[in-house]
Amino acid sequence: MNMKNVFDYIDSMREEMTKTLGELILHPSFRQEPEEGAPYGRPARECLDFALEICEKLGFKTENVGNRAGVASFTDGEPLLGILAHLDVVPAGDGWTLDPYKATIRDGKLYGRGAMDDKGPAVSVIYATKALKDLGVPLKHGFELILGTDEECGSSDIGYFREHRKMPKWLFTPDASYPLINIEKGHIGSRFTATCESEKLISLHGGKTINAVPAAACAVVQGISESEILKSIEAADCTVEFSLTEEGGKIRIDARGVSAHASTPDVGDNALTALIKLLSLLPLDEPAKTLLSGLAREFPYKDTDGSSAGIAANDDISGSLTLVLSILDYEKDMFSGAIDIRFPVCETSESVCKKLDAALKRAGFDARSNGSEPHCVPSDSPFVRTLISAYESVTGKKGECIAIGGGTYVHGIPGGVAFGCEIEGEDNRIHGADEFIRVDALIENAKIFAEAIVRVCNSEEL
Ligand SMILES: [Zn+2]
Repeated sequence: MNMKNVFDYIDSMREEMTKTLGELILHPSFRQEPEEGAPYGRPARECLDFALEICEKLGFKTENVGNRAGVASFTDGEPLLGILAHLDVVPAGDGWTLDPYKATIRDGKLYGRGAMDDKGPAVSVIYATKALKDLGVPLKHGFELILGTDEECGSSDIGYFREHRKMPKWLFTPDASYPLINIEKGHIGSRFTATCESEKLISLHGGKTINAVPAAACAVVQGISESEILKSIEAADCTVEFSLTEEGGKIRIDARGVSAHASTPDVGDNALTALIKLLSLLPLDEPAKTLLSGLAREFPYKDTDGSSAGIAANDDISGSLTLVLSILDYEKDMFSGAIDIRFPVCETSESVCKKLDAALKRAGFDARSNGSEPHCVPSDSPFVRTLISAYESVTGKKGECIAIGGGTYVHGIPGGVAFGCEIEGEDNRIHGADEFIRVDALIENAKIFAEAIVRVCNSEEL
């Protein structure tokens, strides 16, 4: 098949594609109160209806799956390939210089909430499909688009979809970055507690969300002199910044580090584990001293791979386990905290949870840990190789597989990989203010998807 006709046709739809993307952006489709027939709120439902109407106008068959997701296709028979995009967004948030729910095109970039995540990629898939249909491009196997509406809040749309409808054998989601993500580490969240009465430790707070390296932590102590604290700060030898404030006979200790996503703890500087190290060196009373020393021993400052707790694991295809002690609070005679772990494909959730709970027990804490298994489609599978070849042929760039610590829309779906659409070196401000997609990228993505669909659906190997 000569793809030049297809690419020229996609180029000719540039205006229509930007117009459709602008219309999708008009819907503030972030999760809102459920209503009758709108499990994720009215705007998400309306955005789904609008997208399916567009697909019908373009001549595809459509199906509404429980008002949670939609399917569009023009091919007959059981589809071999599914392309999974989502129409929900995160709320606009602060800092926008433009209207987040009205597309603005400026300097070749289209701005608006969802422009890159994931309404723009959805538009590229819809128009790639239109080009293949209108030009009658021969396909040996069928494919379908699946448009979800709950990716940002836990992907319950896909859970529902899989209970009610069969997923195609192979899938890609254009909801991450190029070239292709074939491995997503397993993920564990752990909550732990211990009761503790203390005369000297008054309070402790560090971290708010489990999936981030905390940039700030603070503790209030009494009955310990400022010079003792200063001596321990020196002994703790941390790169975070400590500062002391006197508060009515008590001393408040603040630690300031660097935040990072929990999947990349190396680029952060954990203020909480630094503060725990410092506190473990102070002459606190028992059991506070033993509990904090236990945490400092099992999950020490700058240990981001779990080696001190005996949890470290590593393999060639997915890299090292990462561990972040991300939350710890002490108030009302009670410690409560959280740990985030991303583990490689050589490990299982059950075995990592067991080791983590044992380490927390040694430190004196009760723990509840649970998690999800790693996700992997082998890099030498014909499906992965076919997508990479399509990417290389359209972009002229070298393709490769990437392993990540985060999870994508296809996590846990057999045969699913993430393919596009962010590129290295460009920050599209996903989830931030002034999110955008380059209009050229909107067009190029459609060409990459058209090429990928033709190659996968005509493959002899799949
Ligand atoms: Zn997304």
